Amino acid sequence: MNSISRRTFVLGTAAAALVRPRPADPFRLGIASGDPAPDSVVLWTRLAPSPLDADGQGGMPDADVPVDWQIATTPTFRKVVTSGTVQARYADAHSVHVVANGLRPDAEYFYRFRARGHISPTGRTLTTPAFDAPGRDLTMLFACCSNLESGWFTAYRRMAEEHADLILHLGDYIYEGAARPYVVRPHLGPEVLTLPDYRRRYGQYKLDPDLQAAHAGAPWVVVPDDHDVEDDYAGTFRFDDVPRLTPAQWVTRRAAAYRAYYEHLPLRPSSSPIGNSIQLYRRLYWGRLATFHMLDTRQFRSRLACNGGWKACAEADLPARTITGAAQEAWLLDGLAQHHGTWDILGQQVFFAGRLDPTGVGNMDSWDGYRASRARIQQGWQDRHVRNPVVLTGDIHQAWANDLKADYRDEHSPTVGTELICTSLTSGGDGTGDTEVPGQATNPHLRFFSNLRGYGRARITPTQLTADFRALDYVKLPGAPATTLRSFALRDGHPGLHPF
Ligand code: FE
Ligand code: CA
Repeated sequence: MNSISRRTFVLGTAAAALVRPRPADPFRLGIASGDPAPDSVVLWTRLAPSPLDADGQGGMPDADVPVDWQIATTPTFRKVVTSGTVQARYADAHSVHVVANGLRPDAEYFYRFRARGHISPTGRTLTTPAFDAPGRDLTMLFACCSNLESGWFTAYRRMAEEHADLILHLGDYIYEGAARPYVVRPHLGPEVLTLPDYRRRYGQYKLDPDLQAAHAGAPWVVVPDDHDVEDDYAGTFRFDDVPRLTPAQWVTRRAAAYRAYYEHLPLRPSSSPIGNSIQLYRRLYWGRLATFHMLDTRQFRSRLACNGGWKACAEADLPARTITGAAQEAWLLDGLAQHHGTWDILGQQVFFAGRLDPTGVGNMDSWDGYRASRARIQQGWQDRHVRNPVVLTGDIHQAWANDLKADYRDEHSPTVGTELICTSLTSGGDGTGDTEVPGQATNPHLRFFSNLRGYGRARITPTQLTADFRALDYVKLPGAPATTLRSFALRDGHPGLHPF
C-alpha cells in the first residue's frame, strides 16, 4: 500500500481530533528499528499510554488496535515509499514488529507510526548493502549492561549523537532485580518474575528519553544476556535461588522473560518465542565488508562448572560441556566457512579470552567455564582459515581489549583473533580511572582495561577496523560528554590489536 501521502496521514489525524477527544499518547515507549537486510528492516513500537500499570498491559484495552506505519526517504515524509497497517494485539501487549519490505539496499530511511489519533516520533534507519556488494565503510557501536538503577542513560544519548550505521546491544538491556536503596533511579516493584512484571520493567526502561533517542537514530541488532532473565542463569539451570522456584516455575519464568524481550525489541518475527524457547542466534551481512554472527550463549549452555563463581575447576575442561549448544556451534562454524565478508564479527555476551590466574582460578560464568567449547570454535575458525575473526563481548562492566591465542597457557602461541569488550552503559555506576590490566602479568594477551562507563565504536573498512573505547567520566549525574579513551587498529590479515 503506497497510497497514504503525508497530507492524508496528518489531515486524517486532525479530522479525528475534531470529532472526539483523543486517548492519551500511546507512543510513550518510543519506536525502534532493527535486524536490517538489503531489502527490509523491522520497525517496532508498543502502544502503552500508561506503561507502569501493574498488569503489564500499558493502559490499553483488551482489544486489538490498528497501527499505521510509513517509510520515507526524508524526515519530512514528503515522499512515502511504503506504508501499511498492522494490528497491535492485546496478547502481545500491543507491541508490533513490522517487516518493511521492498526497500533499496544501502539506503537511509525514516519511519513513523500512527494509532489512536496520535503520530509517533520519527526514526531513522538503514538497509544493509546488497549481499554481494563490496559494502561501504561502516560505523558500528556496541554496548551492553544498562542498569537503570546505576545511572543516567547519557551514554545512550551520546550513541544517538554518533549518527552510526548500526548499533549492537549485547545484553542486560534490563535488570530483573527488586528496587534497592540509595540508587540513582530505583526499579519499580519487586524482582520481576511474571510476564506482567517483565512487561512493566521494560515499560520503565523504555520511558527513558536517552534510550529512546538511541533507538530512533539507527537500526539495532540485539542479543540478551543473563539479567534480561535472571543473574547468571545457564540454560535450564539457575545460579540464583532467591526466590525459590520449582524447575517448572523457573522454565515458565524464563519463557516470560524471553517473550517480554521479543515484545520490546526490534527483532524479526522469526525470533518470536515458540513454547519456552526463542531463536536468537542469527547472521547479518554488511555486503562483503563484514558478517555479524550474533550468538546466544545463555539459552543452550551447560550448567555452570563447579557450581559457578571464580574457581579452579577441572570440570570446566570437560569436552561434553558447551556454551552454545551443538546446533548453534555447527551453525557458527558453517557461517565462518562461508568467507563472505572481510571481517567475521561474533556478537556475544561473556568474556571470551582465557583469563586464569596463576592458580588456575577463572570465571565459571565466562568462556573459561566452557574451555572445550572455546577450543572447538577457535580451532574451527583456524581450520577454516577465517581471515579476520573479531569477538565482541559485554557482561563484565569494564572495557577490555584482548588478543585471542591458540593456547592461552603459552604466550608465544599464535594470535588467532581479537576480542573487544564494551564496558557497561551504566552498571557499576561512575567507575574509576584505573587502567592497569588485571592479571596481565600471567595473561599478557590481555592488553587494555578501563573501569569507566561507555560503549565501543568500530569504524570498519576493507583494510582496517578501528576500535575506539568511548567513555563517560560519570553517570550518576546526567550530561557527561563521551571521549575516546584509547583506539586500536585491527588490520586485515594480521590478527590481534595494533597501535592506532
Ligand atoms: Fe550486566
Ligand atoms: Ca550479564
